[in-house]
Amino acid sequence: MKIKPIRGTHDLFGEELKKFNKVVYEVKDKAKKFGFNELITPIFESSELFKKPLGEQSDVVLKEMYTFKDRNEDEITLRPEYTTPMIRAAMFNGLLNNLPAKFFGTGQMFRRERPQKGRYRQFNQINFENFGTDDIFSDIEIINLANTILKNILPHRKITLHLNTLGSRENLKDYKNTLSKYFNDNKNLLSADSVNKINANPLRILDSKNIEDKDIIEKCPKLVESLSKSDLNLYEEIKNCLIDLNIATYEDPKLVRGLDYYCHTVFEFKTDDIGSQDTLIGGGRYNGLIKALGGKNLPGVGWAGGIERIMLLMKDIVSDEKNIHLAIQDPTYKKYALAMYDFLIKNNFGVYWNYKYNLKKSLSLASDKKAQYIIIVGELENTNNKYALKNLISGEQKIVDLKNILDHIK
Ligand code: AMP
Repeated sequence: MKIKPIRGTHDLFGEELKKFNKVVYEVKDKAKKFGFNELITPIFESSELFKKPLGEQSDVVLKEMYTFKDRNEDEITLRPEYTTPMIRAAMFNGLLNNLPAKFFGTGQMFRRERPQKGRYRQFNQINFENFGTDDIFSDIEIINLANTILKNILPHRKITLHLNTLGSRENLKDYKNTLSKYFNDNKNLLSADSVNKINANPLRILDSKNIEDKDIIEKCPKLVESLSKSDLNLYEEIKNCLIDLNIATYEDPKLVRGLDYYCHTVFEFKTDDIGSQDTLIGGGRYNGLIKALGGKNLPGVGWAGGIERIMLLMKDIVSDEKNIHLAIQDPTYKKYALAMYDFLIKNNFGVYWNYKYNLKKSLSLASDKKAQYIIIVGELENTNNKYALKNLISGEQKIVDLKNILDHIK
C-alpha cells in the first residue's frame, strides 16, 4: 500500500529545505535586530478564537477552516492565521504589561483552499506583530522590516509595496454603510459572490477578482474622499518616510485586506514573477482586535508572509559546507579511520563514513555525492602515520599528516 500525502500538503527536503531554512534564519536574524521576541503557539486552538475576529462571513471562516470536534465535544480549529493566536498567547501569559510588546513567529497554517502553485492547504507563515502603540513609526518600522527581509532573501527580484489607508475604525464604519447602500442600489449588476458580501462586509467587494464587478466597483464612492484631515496627514507622513527609506511603493486605493479589524495602514508586498498568487506578505493596523478578543483596548500592527511563496522566487543555495569523505581501503583500517573521523568531528568539520571499505567503491560514491575532499585511510597510515588527501574539485592529491590535515582542508 502506497499512502499519498494529503492534497495541498508537501514534504520538504533537499534544495527546497535549504531555501526554507534560509528564510527562517533570515527572519530570526532580522527579528533580533529589530527587537522582536519569538512566540510559538499551538497548532490548534478553540474555534471561537478565529470565528469572530476573522469575520463569520469571511472566506477563511466559511470555507477554509479545518474545524473538528475533540473527544469531549470541544470545537477545535487548526490555526488558519497567526495574529489571533499571538494575541491570545500574549494576553494569557501576561506579556502585554510592558508595552509596546513585539513578537514574531514562524510555523504551519492550515486553510482548505483549492491548491495551485503558491497556494497550499498546509503552508508556513512568518508573522510579526507589534502590540500596544499607534505611533506611525511602528507602521513604518514593520513595513521596513518586511522590506529588509525580502531584499536580503530576494536581492535579484522586483517586489513592490502596495499601500493604502482605511482611516479610523469610526470613519471606516461610516464608509462601509455608504458602500452597502451603493452596492444594494446596484445589486443587479454584481456577481452572486459579491452580493453575499454587501451587508456582511462590503469592503471585500472592492477586492473582487470577478470581471462582472469591475465596472460597478470602478464607480463606487471612494474611501479617500471620506477620510478625515488628520488621518490623511498621518498617511502622508508614512508615505514620506517610506520614500526616505527607499521602499518602492505603489498607492493602491482598492487595497482593503480581508480581516474585519483592519484600519488605517494596510499593505501588501507583491511580485510579478509568480503568477496569480502574487502576494508575498500582507498586513496592516488592527486597532480594536485585542479588545475584541477580551483584552484591553490596545492598538496593534503586523504582517504575515508565506514562506513557500518566497521560496518560489529564490535561487538554489550554493553551500560552502566542506563535504569530506573517508575512503577506507579495507576493514582492517577501520580503527585508523575512526580516529580520523573523531578528529574531524571534534574540530568541527562534517565527515561522511561510507560503509564501503573498498577504495574503488568509496571513490565512486564520493564522486556521486559530490564530495569536495576524500581522505584515504589505509596502508600509508598504518606504516608512517600519513594520509592521502584528495581534492576532488581540483583533482590534486597530497600526502599529509594528521597535524597538518586541517590546514589543508580549511
Ligand atoms: P493572509 O493571512 O491571507 O493575508 O496571507 C498572508 C500571506 O501568507 C500571503 O501573502 C501568502 O504569502 C501566504 N499565504 C496565504 N495563504 C496561503 C496558502 N494557501 N498557501 C501558501 N501561502 C499562503
